[in-house]
Amino acid sequence: MAERISETLQKKLSSRLSFYEDLGIRLFYRDRGAGAALDNERQVELPATTHFPTIDLEKEKTLPKPAGKPALQKTMPVTTPVIPKIASLPVVGGPSLFESVEKIVGDSLLKTREDLGECTRCKLHSTRHKIVFGDGNPKAELVFVGEGPGADEDAQGLPFVGRAGKLLTQMIEAMGLQRKDVYICNVVKCRPPENRQPEEDEVSTCSPFLMRQIDAIAPKVIVCLGAVAAKTLLQTNRGISQFRGEWLEFRGRKLLATYHPAYLLRNPPAKSEVWKDLQKVMAVLGLEVKKGKSA
Ligand code: URA
Repeated sequence: MAERISETLQKKLSSRLSFYEDLGIRLFYRDRGAGAALDNERQVELPATTHFPTIDLEKEKTLPKPAGKPALQKTMPVTTPVIPKIASLPVVGGPSLFESVEKIVGDSLLKTREDLGECTRCKLHSTRHKIVFGDGNPKAELVFVGEGPGADEDAQGLPFVGRAGKLLTQMIEAMGLQRKDVYICNVVKCRPPENRQPEEDEVSTCSPFLMRQIDAIAPKVIVCLGAVAAKTLLQTNRGISQFRGEWLEFRGRKLLATYHPAYLLRNPPAKSEVWKDLQKVMAVLGLEVKKGKSA
């Protein structure tokens, strides 16, 4: 006889299923009993091997510790090489903030963190509790860049650990990865009061550290979460919806901007757009993109 699952596990399972449903991923959790009645056409699209990342829901609360070496779970080589078309955006004017900063030979995340120190370079230092430098695999192939820490991040000193962070973690896991496989950081390292957007002087003071982080990690792909990250790295004034989901370039690396998880919390239907974007990233990283999982 089947064992009963705990109520907590049941809740977690149901919230994960509704997350997948929001993403437009449906078929993998179809009730086996009701299976025949459900849309057969789409069922045929799914190979028998279709599975989603196995996630131990009982342990889900514990974030994995950063790994010392790249840990992307590669699948079988992709048959068709993914050569994304890279578009370029007009810059605001003058050399970009980042083009004007030379790459520091022999730089590392550790040195960057040391140089940041107990930073007082901008006014954000006076209200922050903890600097939120970044977290994850220092050799990650995939870097997520957010805007700036919120209250939970400010309290813990870790990026994306609040509500938006939980959603980001689910997105990463839906890609077949774990947080420890990727690197997560923000444009500004200190919480802007009342979660306001970081101001121009704060961004220009702090973002050279972001650039050093990206250079030190040397990821294959950078995903900008939201307009602040995208506008900062791309040095553009264009609205994110004009280039969301397009492959762009940042200092010779592939960059894709998508919506911020906090926006998705307010606007869940946009999750399917984000899932499409993440599938593009998965293809470039050689991660298995499952057939039949429409966005
Ligand atoms: N939003 C961000 O942009 N960054 C975080 O770290 C948390 C929320």
